[in-house]
Amino acid sequence: MKPRPAALRAALTTLTAAAILASVLTTGPTAATAAEVPQPQTAAAAPTTADLSGDIIAVPPTASTPSSRRSTGATTQSESTQSESAQSESAQSQSAQAASTVSVEKIYVSRAAATATTADDSSSLKLDDASIKAAVSSLHDYWWEQSSHTVDIQLAGIENDSLAQKTCDANTTLNGVSAKAFGGSFANFSWINTHRHLLVLSREACGTVAFGTLGGNGGLIFSGYGTEQSLAVPILLHEFGHNLGFQHANAGFCRSAKVFDGTDDDFSLVPANTTTSVQCPVREYGDYADIMGYSLNGARPGLSSLQRSLAGYISDVTDDSAVGTRSFTIKPLSGSASGRSLRIVDPVSKAVYYVEYRIKSGADASNAEFAGYRQNCESITGGFTLCALGSSATSGSVRILRTLPNSNDSRTYPATVVLAAGLDSKNDPTRRDTHLDKGESFTDYGSGFSLKVTSLNPSSGAVVSVRLGTAPTFSAKKPATAATTTTLKVNRATQTYGSSTRITATARVSDREGGIPNGTLTLKRGGTTVSKGAVPKNGAVAYTLPKTLAAGSYALKATYAPTSEAFAASTSSTVKVAVTKAKSTTSSSLSHTKIARSGTPQVAVAVSAPGVTAPTGTVTVSANGKVVKRYSLTSAKKGRVTLSLPKFTTAKKYAITTSFIGSTSTASSKASAGTLTVTK
Ligand SMILES: [Zn+2]
Repeated sequence: MKPRPAALRAALTTLTAAAILASVLTTGPTAATAAEVPQPQTAAAAPTTADLSGDIIAVPPTASTPSSRRSTGATTQSESTQSESAQSESAQSQSAQAASTVSVEKIYVSRAAATATTADDSSSLKLDDASIKAAVSSLHDYWWEQSSHTVDIQLAGIENDSLAQKTCDANTTLNGVSAKAFGGSFANFSWINTHRHLLVLSREACGTVAFGTLGGNGGLIFSGYGTEQSLAVPILLHEFGHNLGFQHANAGFCRSAKVFDGTDDDFSLVPANTTTSVQCPVREYGDYADIMGYSLNGARPGLSSLQRSLAGYISDVTDDSAVGTRSFTIKPLSGSASGRSLRIVDPVSKAVYYVEYRIKSGADASNAEFAGYRQNCESITGGFTLCALGSSATSGSVRILRTLPNSNDSRTYPATVVLAAGLDSKNDPTRRDTHLDKGESFTDYGSGFSLKVTSLNPSSGAVVSVRLGTAPTFSAKKPATAATTTTLKVNRATQTYGSSTRITATARVSDREGGIPNGTLTLKRGGTTVSKGAVPKNGAVAYTLPKTLAAGSYALKATYAPTSEAFAASTSSTVKVAVTKAKSTTSSSLSHTKIARSGTPQVAVAVSAPGVTAPTGTVTVSANGKVVKRYSLTSAKKGRVTLSLPKFTTAKKYAITTSFIGSTSTASSKASAGTLTVTK
């Protein structure tokens, strides 16, 4: 779907000025099948941290009470080892102390006609009572299971509301309906802390946008997707997650070919397709294996173990923070066996990580990671590529998550980040995905935590070896540098000395994906460097041979030298080119055709060659084939000279010819000057 970010955001800010951040959901394509690549839309929301701080200020005090919906999390965490992360995980700390209770979440559905006319109503939205009940039932089933039976969504009522907009505007619709629906019981944020939710489903497709309020123990949701489209329920699940206090599930890529992690300060949300200097840019929605990430048709993946732990939905989190090397078996997160998450505190840096094993079963049966989609990759500044999808549906994969620093307040859980720590079969550290396969390893920023995936078995679980402390890191799949290719092409193979039609050689370097690596591109002609400089944005450098390059054959070669270990050097094959001599023309004429033996005959010689202003070289004059005069033509003569011939002692006829022997740049040529008759 294509939300209109600016307009939507502005209106939402108005709506929620006194309370809660509303969030815009972006989704994948509307018609993706297993054979297609899901192409997520650009994230519409601005960085969450900024919006949160802006919205929190005016929250009524009653709304900031920590939620009572959180059930007991059996996460046995040691406060003393939490360090820097302790603050951002305050919600989790509370969850450990909270009582295990079932929270009943009442959902009120408004079937809203935004416009008075029915001509623009969409029949494919399916807003009959039975369809709405089925959708709410799906909402219930999903969250009941994900919350470990502590969130109980119940349908409280369905009613019809109508507005008189000229066209359906999503924000105006939600504003208008929430002011009057169900007797005004959702007006003025009266839903906060009531565990009541107003779901507004427009009869019109209404721009096919959806959004929900974040936090508040209750909330508002708008969806233009109805109940039965393939995105309808995934979107409702996601928006309801916001109402429950969940932020987006993101993906983080640390821009280094060696360290796939960063400090808290290194991570920051960065909009897609922007240049960034952030060390670990975080892509909003980038976690496809979490309902709070991108919504894709039919995909209803579970929440990550980190999200569930934050909310106290999961109690079988194993803690590890003691120095040493141990092996753990992590059970599939979508299963029921205990031991589904590993919580690691790096004893050196105190950073907190969650490790989980996801397989294609249970809620994750529809997880897009296992749907057979091709990898979905996007460029990150600096020649790096963040990929998603492509986990093995047979073996599943291991994921490492952390919270996004400074992303929560008292009414929300922190946003989550799945780390792009995995290499694919190309073994290219500049191109990574968000899961670890068997044999892959991860070492955190502080180097106090290393993990290697020993085996993956959907029945028995994932076995990981964890090293904590300062022991040597695992020898694991070594990141390779990315291969590059340098090519050299010429527009022609020969040029003639002095001619303006010249040889241009173009050197070009790229990586396997067609990306342009950083580094230096050098062009050599034989042993001479003729061009050297930083690789330009288009990866290509052109060099044109000089017009007056001496005739001969030359070997051209281009070399790429990388500036970082991320890319490998490469050299083009040698391209041979030739410079041919300029063609010369000699003309000559005698001063006399008849002369006495006492006379001194003269012959005027002119040598010319196109493109050559002053041919140089030896000129000879022959009489009946015998050289009688040899002269060295200098450039000062500009190709013209008049030569005096020696006296002839024998009276007879002589055939006088002139030759230009040529030079390194100019070919030879000759001419007849005519017949000279020598008399007594
Ligand atoms: Zn969202």
